[in-house]
Amino acid sequence: MPESLTRINSERLYAALEELGQIGRYQDDETGLQGVCRLALSAEDGQGRRLVLGWMKELGLQIRVDRIGNVYARRAGRRSDLKPVLLGSHIDSVPTAGRFDGCLGVLGALEIVRTLNDHKIETLRPVEVAFFTDEEGCRFGTDMLGSAVACGRLPLEYAYELRDRDGLRLRDELEKIGFLGEHDERVTPPYAYLECHVEQGPILYQKGIEIGVVTGVQSISWQALTIVGKSGHAGATPMNLRSDAGVAASRINLKLREMIATGNYGEMRATMGCIAPVPGLVNIVPGKVEATVDLRNPSNELMQKSEADLLAFYEEVKQLDGVEIRWRQTARTPAVEFSARLQDRIQAAAERAGLSHLRIVAGAGHDAQEFAAICPASMVFCPGEYDGISHNPREFSTPKQCSDGINVMLDVALQLANQED
Ligand SMILES: [Zn+2]
Repeated sequence: MPESLTRINSERLYAALEELGQIGRYQDDETGLQGVCRLALSAEDGQGRRLVLGWMKELGLQIRVDRIGNVYARRAGRRSDLKPVLLGSHIDSVPTAGRFDGCLGVLGALEIVRTLNDHKIETLRPVEVAFFTDEEGCRFGTDMLGSAVACGRLPLEYAYELRDRDGLRLRDELEKIGFLGEHDERVTPPYAYLECHVEQGPILYQKGIEIGVVTGVQSISWQALTIVGKSGHAGATPMNLRSDAGVAASRINLKLREMIATGNYGEMRATMGCIAPVPGLVNIVPGKVEATVDLRNPSNELMQKSEADLLAFYEEVKQLDGVEIRWRQTARTPAVEFSARLQDRIQAAAERAGLSHLRIVAGAGHDAQEFAAICPASMVFCPGEYDGISHNPREFSTPKQCSDGINVMLDVALQLANQED
């Protein structure tokens, strides 16, 4: 059988997803479904890590844990002097997760190794499977933390000092769950990096497409806003004498929609996810609003333009509503383009497998964008049911949706692992 026709064991992959999904499971009141909560470096994360580590050991892989708790497991190639093909993702979760986000990439990569072992397929290069610490950023506030440290965007010392809401320090928590490793956290650039992930959006599902060929990750810019006006009695304060911080926040929210409607900002997306008036009572003109702005754009240039135009609009709002607007940047990552060569490989592999495919930009952040800074990287997206809902217990991809993605990754990984230069 030609190696390009080698297929993974779909049931075995799905059983592994089920088993890992039992760790940190909870009954979700809102959906009535079983969700998963494995916050980074919690006891549950430790338990999940040990389960996956056990599987890595069973497969005879050579394991190393680095100083930020990233775990790498290597399957030897014929030439140990050649750089490995790295397949990775994460197994930590948001507080209200399903079983697939991140886990599909890690357990799918392990299933690829199992398949290579089953078929006694040797590769020229080593193949490595990795999971990275705190991809979600929910607990310590910085997402893609482990991969960002591994690839050099963030220093180890910065990561160690991060604290959660209870003031617990990241380094201590890493030590507590037994994953404060000794290996150098700066990873030697691999030959290539591949990651399979659920789309976490509706595009593939709605179009009935089986494989997303991920072209890159969009730029993300977060702001925290404090709008200060003047509090007053809803009945006694004349309209022309008001400085209503709530009105100012509404103007900004609608301005974002208007900006998008002009088409001048490309594929911009904008969300004000928090608009909290103070004191937030029916008969009081809000004297203050705490709000957030989330901007996304696949173009760095258009992101900059939208940020500059939004700041200029804040000046207008200050005049119009007689308010003060203070803002600070709480997160900002640039757009990342994935390797065109790897995208072509993924597309060709999908075609060989008779699967429909679509080029797609990742809406969320992923470990792959950190690796794109140090080696050729790309991602394979699998569709999800219920419009690809994610970060929710309803998150669900069928065995076929999962195995299609992992089979495509297997095909590409095998080609890369047998390539000398
Ligand atoms: Zn993820």
